[in-house]
Amino acid sequence: MSNHFSSQPASSGGSPSSELGLYIHLPFCRTKCTYCAFVSGSPRSEEEIDRYVEALLVHLAAGADRARGRALTTVFFGGGTPSLLGPARMERILAAIHEGYALTPGAEITIEANPESGTRDLFERLTPLGVNRVSLGVQSFHDDELQWLGRVHSVAGVDRALESARAAGIDNVSLDLIFGLPGQSLDRWRETLERALARDPMHLSAYALGFEEGTLLDRLREQGTVSPACDEEYEAMYDAMRERLAEAGYGQYELSSWSRPGRACRHNLIYWRRDEYLAFGVSAHGWYGGLRYGLIRDPRKYMTIIEDNRCMVGADPFWEGLLDERHSLSSDEAASDAMIFGLRMTRGVDAASFSRRYGYAPAERWGETIARLRDRGLLEADAGSVRLTPRAYFISNEALHHFLD
Ligand code: SF4
Repeated sequence: MSNHFSSQPASSGGSPSSELGLYIHLPFCRTKCTYCAFVSGSPRSEEEIDRYVEALLVHLAAGADRARGRALTTVFFGGGTPSLLGPARMERILAAIHEGYALTPGAEITIEANPESGTRDLFERLTPLGVNRVSLGVQSFHDDELQWLGRVHSVAGVDRALESARAAGIDNVSLDLIFGLPGQSLDRWRETLERALARDPMHLSAYALGFEEGTLLDRLREQGTVSPACDEEYEAMYDAMRERLAEAGYGQYELSSWSRPGRACRHNLIYWRRDEYLAFGVSAHGWYGGLRYGLIRDPRKYMTIIEDNRCMVGADPFWEGLLDERHSLSSDEAASDAMIFGLRMTRGVDAASFSRRYGYAPAERWGETIARLRDRGLLEADAGSVRLTPRAYFISNEALHHFLD
């Protein structure tokens, strides 16, 4: 199933706008979930987490120059399990951001939390520092499915975390769900959806279970112990979700994202609109100043490099030694990226802003592609925008790869 989408895109493109986002990767988890391909793992000790935070603070201070004069509109703590760091460490990181970066009033600051570490103490201590959105890794409202996925929480834990966030004044909570578990029936998925809706979240994200290389789940598949659901099953679950969430008053604004009015994730919109964002922490990907970059994936290497280069603050070594990949995009590559990411949004790509940014309208470069996809019922286009049809959402990659040319 090709629509599984991680919390951060691995590539990006576009040209600068005044908005700027900040992504921070915190790679620690209590245990590794069976399906997880993110850079995450259990820390060897509490000291290791402290050491990582120290390195991150140096890195954030060194990167602050890049954001000077820019309005920082969103911060997203992803992982890993950011909530596992606990309040004291998160307070230090947030204080460093406030010190070094010009956050706009009302900036969206999201923390990903898992139910077992999303405590009232954590949320109450982070709200005064501007955290106003929680993305809760729920995945399922069936305890047996949670166990099968290798999650350490239970459904009761989800309710505790939700209550804690709300008691701390954070009503902007997103629930992350996974569908298409092997053997999961459509009815069981519908039950998870109903239970999610009963909690009245402001936002929902749902992804098809992926069998990513290197995961335990993929090894089980190779051994023949587990068989992925078939595309028809995934599609039936996806369609059922679209229908039910629309009925419940949630607007779908991206292939995998739904929200109450005005509660779309502003940080993720930065990715899809190809605005700029800086990235800190292992494996984080950023897009800044025409450069798309990915940071090294090994936490120990990350810490050592930063510890050995403490002079990096102020010496323009922002990238030095910490990059795993870097690519300066040509204008045409950036325009392709803008189409591929922009078409993930249900409103599609706005032709006028695309033209302002890249110097030509989408139809001028991809006229034939657009016509072909429109004939197949996968795309709609008019003078104002180009967008996928709902029929294409589930098979989006089939349509999107045509914009690579
Ligand atoms: S909690 Fe999230 S990041 Fe951590 S192992 Fe599970 S899926 Fe991966």
